[in-house]
Amino acid sequence: MVTPRGPQRVELLAGSEPARTLDFPTPPDWMRDALCREYPHVTFFPDKGQAIKPALQVCAKCICMMDCRAWAIADPSLDHGVLGGMDVQARKAARKLAALRVASPSPAPSSHGDPRTSLLGDAG
Ligand code: SF4
Repeated sequence: MVTPRGPQRVELLAGSEPARTLDFPTPPDWMRDALCREYPHVTFFPDKGQAIKPALQVCAKCICMMDCRAWAIADPSLDHGVLGGMDVQARKAARKLAALRVASPSPAPSSHGDPRTSLLGDAG
């Protein structure tokens, strides 16, 4: 749950060079536990050719990874760096997949019992 705490700057991803401080009118509560804040030597916004594996390894241990991932996927303006254990390409792919799911929702289950049997025809 997001609790309004007034305008403030959050040093999420403080390990990026140069330090990346993001502005949030009301930072989500999960950002307080962002593990990247404890790894100032790890670059989350690498320059071209810089390794992203160290950042991905920090994300993999972060208790807010799923919140961070959902936040980063939902905001296309976050088009650089590692967030929520995903690089830019992975976030773009996740956004495309989400858009496809909205455009083509799964069909409702058959009203004739197990939907798998309807794929096999009427077994009688
Ligand atoms: S998932 Fe990664 S980028 Fe997101 S808060 Fe955690 S450590 Fe930081």
